[in-house]
Amino acid sequence: MALHAELHRHLGGAVVPRVFWRYLLRRGHPLSRQYPDYESFESFFTAPRSSLSEYLELHSLVESVQTLDTIPYFVSKLVRGAYVFEGICYLELRYTPYYRTDSTRSEEWRIGQMRDVVRLVAESATDPRYPLLMRQILCMHSLLPQSVNRAMIELAASEPKLVCGVDLAGPDTHYSPRMDEWIENFRYARVLGLKTTAHLFETANGCDPRLLPYLDRIGHGIQIPLRYPKLLPMLANEGQCLEICPTTYLKTGTLSDLSSLREVFTRCKEAGVDIAICTDNAGLHNVRLPWEYENLLTQDIIDFDTLNDCQDAAFRHAFAWPDSQRTPKSMIKDLIAAS
Ligand SMILES: [Zn+2]
Repeated sequence: MALHAELHRHLGGAVVPRVFWRYLLRRGHPLSRQYPDYESFESFFTAPRSSLSEYLELHSLVESVQTLDTIPYFVSKLVRGAYVFEGICYLELRYTPYYRTDSTRSEEWRIGQMRDVVRLVAESATDPRYPLLMRQILCMHSLLPQSVNRAMIELAASEPKLVCGVDLAGPDTHYSPRMDEWIENFRYARVLGLKTTAHLFETANGCDPRLLPYLDRIGHGIQIPLRYPKLLPMLANEGQCLEICPTTYLKTGTLSDLSSLREVFTRCKEAGVDIAICTDNAGLHNVRLPWEYENLLTQDIIDFDTLNDCQDAAFRHAFAWPDSQRTPKSMIKDLIAAS
């Protein structure tokens, strides 16, 4: 039985290297000629990058091949893997639909095509053999114009059965100069009834507190307990949850090892701030959710009690899980008690 909730995973980073390489090979993509054997491709694909911006270039590479004709291939495989290998029963999958539209067309045309993308992603995720509940989070992007970001919010609100929230992603060096726009967008999203999260306080560049009041959850947020712990009581008050994705910080060069995360978990626990452990890019990292758990445990970053708290928190803070009190774990407990 699938047990876990995953709140932070990107479509662009959710494809495991082998599935992606096979796709490139079949299509005769230039990269498959550059990396003719799987091992060399995997090394290139999963290697740590020196900065968040460089790391995000890999996303662009995957995004460029995720179009309407290939989405069914990638989404069906990632859902199958999440269910079979990770025990995930609830998945919030995030991406920027605009980047999956036809780049040769006008902005207006591409905005129109975003709805086809959202519907196709949902349809491709539906397979009775792998029955997980998947909802989408649409990501505004720091490099896209306001007109496109605004359209994504409106699209999200108009597809409530498929989309559960909005996010802000992209290089965080572009956040502060456009802060008024981001605030306006998140306010608008909330007025339309959407849940909100943003990649924030992930690196030293993305530490702008002005967005915090408009968020239900915080994507990463590790710099809050590490560098701005005075903000923690406010987060606790607002009931905001951090989406912590351990392997990401090694791949982006944000942390040199995972030991600093010990401080993150300890300070959040003391302040009463919930944490959900997530993968961010399970495919790109080649580290699936149970392995994120195991890495933290074996390196003594957390103990099993903390893991249990974080797993429960993931259901509590899920944007579309129907009942936070009723999780797969509690259902099994009920079955045992009734037997
Ligand atoms: Zn992310």
